[in-house]
Amino acid sequence: MKYLEEFQDPELARVLLEDIRATVTRPWAVMEVCGGQTHSIIRHGIDQLLPDEVELIHGPGCPVCVTPLEVIDKALEIAGRPEVIFCSFGDMLRVPGTDRDLFRVRGEGGDVRVVYSPLDALRIARENPHREVVFFGIGFETTAPPNAMTVHQARKQGITNFSMLVSHVLVPPAIEAIMTSPDCRVQGFLAAGHVCSVMGTEEYPQLAERHKVPIVVTGFEPLDILEGIRRTVRQLERGEHTVENAYQRAVRPEGNPAARAMLQDVFEVADRAWRGIGVIPGSGWRLSERYREFDAEHRFDVTGITTRESELCRSGEVLQGLIKPHQCEAFGTVCTPRNPLGATMVSTEGACAAYYLYRRLGAPAAATATAAATAAGAVPPTALEASPVG
Ligand code: SF4
Repeated sequence: MKYLEEFQDPELARVLLEDIRATVTRPWAVMEVCGGQTHSIIRHGIDQLLPDEVELIHGPGCPVCVTPLEVIDKALEIAGRPEVIFCSFGDMLRVPGTDRDLFRVRGEGGDVRVVYSPLDALRIARENPHREVVFFGIGFETTAPPNAMTVHQARKQGITNFSMLVSHVLVPPAIEAIMTSPDCRVQGFLAAGHVCSVMGTEEYPQLAERHKVPIVVTGFEPLDILEGIRRTVRQLERGEHTVENAYQRAVRPEGNPAARAMLQDVFEVADRAWRGIGVIPGSGWRLSERYREFDAEHRFDVTGITTRESELCRSGEVLQGLIKPHQCEAFGTVCTPRNPLGATMVSTEGACAAYYLYRRLGAPAAATATAAATAAGAVPPTALEASPVG
């Protein structure tokens, strides 16, 4: 617990907040890219403790939320086949496809299993040589290395009844897309510390320079986030736009060389669609030619799928930071964690879920109380206590 407590100290939080207040002289909009950071911000009421001039914009860094509808529908199609054991992390099971989700497929007789590691899926393939085992491999640069390693192991062990439905996305091209959008209001970024712990920070100086935007690599505890905001605001006030690493206990400039080598061996960069956002060039990975035999999209015929998004759901705007979740008309009424219209309400990293869990529609007083309690050092409710998934 030593390291958690150190980064949740309310006295140090007060010092950082005072420093931010003393630094800021005009309005600034800062985007936290990662959904994990969004949950930490909302859970601890950090956005409400900041001076009015500092607005936090929630970014598209929720892996479940940005997995394209077409890929979800492909997963549903594959999972419904009698010869298939479909393995997924639990938070994907309630993500709505065009007309059902993986829970529904399981209810209809599909063999859909929740696993805690891609290696579990590989074990299931080894134990069921007469079935086809498919793992749903989604996420950012953080979840990609174990998935790459699993495919590598499948080939090494000669397991031929295993494949992966891959939908990996990359953060730097998303930052590029956000900054080049005509609607962009973002003036500074808190970069996701866990992504940088894998990939390093080499790609960020060009982005910072090209868009004249400060980028501060930031962790996930309250003090990490406040320090990231403090450094970003300080740069903005000074007219600077450099890359700073405020998460040095986990991030080295070169990242994790072993993980990067594994990624390079198994994956290749490809254009990727992001749910609610659209195609971002060079923003994802797919299995490279050498591993194509393990690609579920090649093993199963899942072409010709027609998708249809909810007409009410505005998660695309939420993911781009154009609206806050409670500004969606469906928030907390027809869309709740129990009856989600969009992935941003399902995922444990989704912004809509964060607002629902910690603020609730029409209950601003509760949010203020949470912020005040956090500032006073009280323990706020945890996401797990109220989690709608898993
Ligand atoms: S509240 Fe529900 S319907 Fe609205 S954007 Fe979020 S997920 Fe979509």
